[in-house]
Amino acid sequence: MQLLDGKYVSEKLKIEIATEAAQILAETGRKPHLVAVLVGHDGGSETYVASKIKNCEAVGFKSTLVRYEGDVTEEELLKKVEELNADPDIDGIIVQLPLPKHIDPEKVTEKIDYRKDVDGFHPVNLGRMQRNLPSFIPATPFGITLMLKEYGIDTAGKHCVVVGRSNIVGSPMSILMARNTYPGNCTVTICHSRTPSIKDFTLQADILIVAIGKKNFITADMVKPGAVIIDVGMNRETSTVTKSGFKLFGDVDFENVAPKASWITPVPGGVGLMTIIGLLKNTLASAKKEVYK
Ligand code: NAP
Repeated sequence: MQLLDGKYVSEKLKIEIATEAAQILAETGRKPHLVAVLVGHDGGSETYVASKIKNCEAVGFKSTLVRYEGDVTEEELLKKVEELNADPDIDGIIVQLPLPKHIDPEKVTEKIDYRKDVDGFHPVNLGRMQRNLPSFIPATPFGITLMLKEYGIDTAGKHCVVVGRSNIVGSPMSILMARNTYPGNCTVTICHSRTPSIKDFTLQADILIVAIGKKNFITADMVKPGAVIIDVGMNRETSTVTKSGFKLFGDVDFENVAPKASWITPVPGGVGLMTIIGLLKNTLASAKKEVYK
């Protein structure tokens, strides 16, 4: 078994991103600029946004945090998005999900100019991704493809089973693995909560990607020997042992699955660190007008 080491890959790619950001600054006098919009005080969202801002600063990007209380109206939020769309100094806009119940996330997602949609959630970007056209790719699936590339994992002709079909992870991941490119060219099966006998499918997986949010859901008896295992799950439990006061678990029972796998991502230290790289790379590409002129 070998580790797909998110810490190693993300540190390496951050250096490359920082070098490019410095070049942009030298040539144009400006830094790639990401704006994050945060509504309310959800603990997880606060942590994710803080990490995105910190990482932007670390690679030499400009970042701006726009905060709203949880009672902001949908209208006000949409107006703000329009304002950010029109600001030529901004390369990327993300609105942290989940949003309070009175705000329709689809409306907000579609309001973001797709040319600044560095989360890659806008239907234009999803459609273009599916057709293998230049687009912003959702950060977590993008990060996973970068990791597969870094380790030279062979994907063509493999059976990839994706467990979970969310708009931000499972669904775009399945599209990427089926595309006629590298990484890709897999035969893809998508499993979800209505799939009976998931084990029948996971046992066939040469590449198993799990994003459901259930601690240790994938056990050793569900895995084919020699499989590549990508664990997206981030399940927080309070802990008296760690400094942060919580401990993170994946969707895969790492201890028992790892000995059967050829490659596996740890949690923490795997996919989570790659997600931020996906976002930074999208923002950089936007600043360089690589995706849209
Ligand atoms: P989500 O929107 O809640 O979607 C979960 C998916 O899993 C759904 O498609 C659901 O099926 C499926 N599912 C739930 N229980 C299942 C079961 N028992 N058997 C089979 N399928 C089941 O979650 P998400 O946003 O994709 O996130 C999934 C996990 O990844 C979470 O732990 C999240 O924290 C983590 N995550 C990590 C990162 C990272 O950077 N590492 C990024 C994003 C998310 P239905 O569609 O039928 O309901």
